[in-house]
Amino acid sequence: MDVFHSSLCFIHLSQSTMNSRSLFAFLFAICAHSVAVADTSSAYPSIPGTETGECSLRGVGVGDGVLVPPRREVYEEGRIFDITHRYVPEMPVWDSTEGLGQHFLWLDKSMKNGSLANSSNMKLGVHTGTHVDAPGHFYDNYYDAGFDVDSLDLTLLNGLALLVDVPRDKNITAEVMRSLNIPRGVSRVLFRTLNTDRRLMFKKEFDTSYVGFKEDGAKWLAENTDIKLVGVDYLSVAAYDHSIPSHLVFLESKEIILVEGLKLDDVPAGIYSLNCLPLRLVHSEASPIRCILIR
Ligand SMILES: [Zn+2]
Repeated sequence: MDVFHSSLCFIHLSQSTMNSRSLFAFLFAICAHSVAVADTSSAYPSIPGTETGECSLRGVGVGDGVLVPPRREVYEEGRIFDITHRYVPEMPVWDSTEGLGQHFLWLDKSMKNGSLANSSNMKLGVHTGTHVDAPGHFYDNYYDAGFDVDSLDLTLLNGLALLVDVPRDKNITAEVMRSLNIPRGVSRVLFRTLNTDRRLMFKKEFDTSYVGFKEDGAKWLAENTDIKLVGVDYLSVAAYDHSIPSHLVFLESKEIILVEGLKLDDVPAGIYSLNCLPLRLVHSEASPIRCILIR
């Protein structure tokens, strides 16, 4: 369901016993006016920092009513999944226990202080949150030559992609890659791992025990598949102790794009149209990226 204007309805419902259609009928019956409904259902559990998990109805535009913006993980009842993490202070940052913190975004010009408009500034590492790595990340000669995120191929970042579940007790090794049986011709794969189950991207403290590609897994992928876009669900495509060798294997050819820190919670495995767009940061070896999956 989407958001409609509302007045003076303050309701909290458990949605586990109610599908969206009966919920809508119920709301319609008890509200004299049209209603606002957070876009969630029991099929897509809540994500921290959102109104999901409970239905929140509040007055909009009437007297002392409170405005509540929509925040969605899923659109059109599962046709579109947002697989990008929100930038919030609790977001984990590489090798830090502090997370992103409060100060990455600030209101530089404020209407409350007399400015004609609100205008914010931000400061954050380009490898923060859901982001893409360019070849210059681990190859200084590529960096110098300009293989930055602006040089990445948008046709690889957009197109059919496979979301697969990796065996939960393992890093992504050659053996695991072989066992996944990803057919030739598949050029984009998002690997969902134990990191998603452990909800590591929702934990402020960076966790070195995340899983990722071991060097032999990266080699196997590069030599035995047609995969040119690798997506993972924590801050690095490589297991912590293989951080350098795995990246070197992936980035050496300049043909493989790495998308890291994806939000793959509650998305059924399968084939989707992937749409990812990085910022055009010239001379930057990475960029935050917005990615969605469409059925
Ligand atoms: Zn990165």
